[in-house]
Amino acid sequence: MVEVALKGIHKKYANNENYSVTDFNLDIADREFIVFVGPSGCGKSTTLRMVAGLEDISEGELQIGGQIMNDVAPKDRDIAMVFQNYALYPHMTVFDNMAFGLKLRKFEKEEIKQRVENAASILGLTEYLNRKPAALSGGQRQRVALGRAIVRDARVFLMDEPLSNLDAKLRVAMRAEIAKLHQRLNTTTIYVTHDQTEAMTMADRIVIMKDGFIQQIGTPQEVYNTP
Ligand code: ADP
Ligand code: ADP
Repeated sequence: MVEVALKGIHKKYANNENYSVTDFNLDIADREFIVFVGPSGCGKSTTLRMVAGLEDISEGELQIGGQIMNDVAPKDRDIAMVFQNYALYPHMTVFDNMAFGLKLRKFEKEEIKQRVENAASILGLTEYLNRKPAALSGGQRQRVALGRAIVRDARVFLMDEPLSNLDAKLRVAMRAEIAKLHQRLNTTTIYVTHDQTEAMTMADRIVIMKDGFIQQIGTPQEVYNTP
């Protein structure tokens, strides 16, 4: 079943004379892990941000779960996004950082507590719930950022270079953790990276972008093992 459909998507920023994304067409299956890969400036982030509703779509149609989303506000899209720089609130505890989006959406206190504790347990953060981000390691902070997405129980995860601020060793470890998390939660995921190895090891299908265009779509084998 198609979960996210991008149909003839174009993006032109008002202050930029060139198109940043041109005729992007992709059907993403329910539970699929899709990776957008390509050099800096090729339009990966812009495309992801259009799915999130953080950028307007200039032309084309976005569907999530069969519904047209072009004019739907980000908070009503049933997506959860993980950013590169974690975007954690430094003055809040881990618990409150993870709870924030749920409080915003007026979830019951008990429901929030359950969801946060469950996510913390999945991510090995149970002992850290009362700490502030400054008292955590880089990997733990990244897990909190993932936790904030998990608690939402959203139908789609969007991840924009979530590991690029980590050192090489931690990046490899977190890559495996995210892959395991996906096996466990099975949430449809779009993951943006400029790192081919990340794409190869994590993706069900890879979308290679260049200059705002899709250059190739396929499984890691199809895309990288050309005969
Ligand atoms: P990537 O994520 O692959 O690095 P981006 O989506 O960030 O690429 O950028 C794609 C193109 O759009 C680039 O040429 C970039 O300069 C341009 N761009 C990105 N954001 C803006 C913006 N807010 N205003 C104008 N141009 C932008
Ligand atoms: P209030 O936000 O009205 O003070 P609570 O009394 O439920 O609500 O919680 C107080 C604070 O305790 C919360 O804001 C949260 O930071 C923290 N908290 C709640 N449950 C946990 C938990 N399981 N682990 C760590 N901190 C928690």
